[in-house]
Amino acid sequence: MAYQTVNPYTNEVVKTYPNATTDQINAALAVSDNLYHEWRKNDAMEKRAKILLNIADEFRQRKNQLARIAVTDMGKLYKEAQGEVELCAMIAEYFAKHGAEMLKPTPIQTIATGEAEVQKHATGIIMAVEPWNFPYYQIMRVFAPNFMVGNPMILKDASNTPGSAEAFVNAVQEAGAPIGSLTNLFLGYDQVSEIIADPRVQGVALTGSERGGRSVAVAAAEHLKKNTMELGGMDAFIVLEDADIDEVAEIAWRTRLYNAGQVCTSSKRFIVAANLYDEFLSRLKAKFAAVVPGDPMKASTTLAPMNSKKAKEKLQSQVAEAIANGANVYYGNEPIDLPGQFFMPTILTDIDKNNPAFRTEMFGPVAQVYKVNSESEAIDLANDSEFGLGGIVFAGDADHGAEVASQIETGMVFVNNFMASLPELPFGGIKKSGYGREMSELGMMAFVNEQLIVKA
Ligand code: NAP
Repeated sequence: MAYQTVNPYTNEVVKTYPNATTDQINAALAVSDNLYHEWRKNDAMEKRAKILLNIADEFRQRKNQLARIAVTDMGKLYKEAQGEVELCAMIAEYFAKHGAEMLKPTPIQTIATGEAEVQKHATGIIMAVEPWNFPYYQIMRVFAPNFMVGNPMILKDASNTPGSAEAFVNAVQEAGAPIGSLTNLFLGYDQVSEIIADPRVQGVALTGSERGGRSVAVAAAEHLKKNTMELGGMDAFIVLEDADIDEVAEIAWRTRLYNAGQVCTSSKRFIVAANLYDEFLSRLKAKFAAVVPGDPMKASTTLAPMNSKKAKEKLQSQVAEAIANGANVYYGNEPIDLPGQFFMPTILTDIDKNNPAFRTEMFGPVAQVYKVNSESEAIDLANDSEFGLGGIVFAGDADHGAEVASQIETGMVFVNNFMASLPELPFGGIKKSGYGREMSELGMMAFVNEQLIVKA
């Protein structure tokens, strides 16, 4: 896989990067392993917390520069890229401030004589495989907690966002992170497997597709390496019959079109009570029709191009397949007369369960809308998916919405709100959306050795 930045708005090939050599890989593993042992011997947690705070500052200072690089790499709106950089700073700051508390030993009351406690230690190098859709945030989700723990990280980022990966590492190093704490390598898939096999590597974190996740999880399992998988989703957005349609309409279009629809937790299936169905469709259509495609650097643009020609073509063929199997195009699916990789926001209805679209993650600005006649039908439809990442429930009464939310078989559900990712909230899914959590205390413990010590 060639590492290359191709600007999805201009189609210009900006830069191509050579793959890492075996010598570079060996050197990276050696430096990171030395750092791990050094950190294990000298408790440097306080120092690492200070560096994480510097990293937060560095990201804030470089916000515009980093945002521009992400826009060039994968086409997202400049203002969304700026927001992503700010979120990275928040994540670094959060783990700097709360990490030490989370890593304190936990005492255990024991009936045996003596004192017992669970200590929390670093385990070694973590191999992180990350996608392009949030080219900074995805890295920070793994890097910040593991840096605090004392686990160095080797990064294999997506082959279409090499500029962002380099810029991330530069910012981290400029902030004082020691060499080896985060190393970006441009790796082929076999090289990733070789690194996973290396005895110095103790954990593997992947965010990406089900297909990529399965391959990397197999490599990790072969060498008995603990791993976390943050994979795809078909999140439901349930609109109950007493929901406030104004609030629903405002959130629905944003959750589907944010980042040009390329978000794992975007609502992809809108499941709407029959009494609100027609109104919902016409409001969603009006919002979709009002977006302004164009230069993602311009503040007036509200629809970004997709990240690549390949991604756009894949979405086109998924929509064509959905239509061939009986789906109705309520709105959209027409060409946008701009050179970039734009996909017109599209609304599909009348998707029955035999339509492949019913089980296909459409990673772009396409909304599937379903009509239901009861709350239980909405819950059953939401749960009729191999994925189990997130979801949104809109209800007149938030407490009732929360009761419905707890019946949804996913890792996260938000009631009457946009799904947000924040450092204190655990992020992750079940079923084919993966396993393990990132962010929060749960995420921080992913690659920690919870070691029992009992003193007589
Ligand atoms: P992808 O193809 O799986 O790529 C993700 C990363 O995995 C890239 O760095 C990719 O490298 C690498 N990769 C893929 N196959 C690999 C293999 N066999 N060995 C080693 N590395 C491998 O995912 P994508 O399609 O670009 O990303 C979109 C998917 O990610 C969607 O399904 C989305 O829902 C999911 N996602 C999930 C979350 C979450 O937190 N749950 C967040 C964001 C996105 P190359 O680029 O070199 O192929």
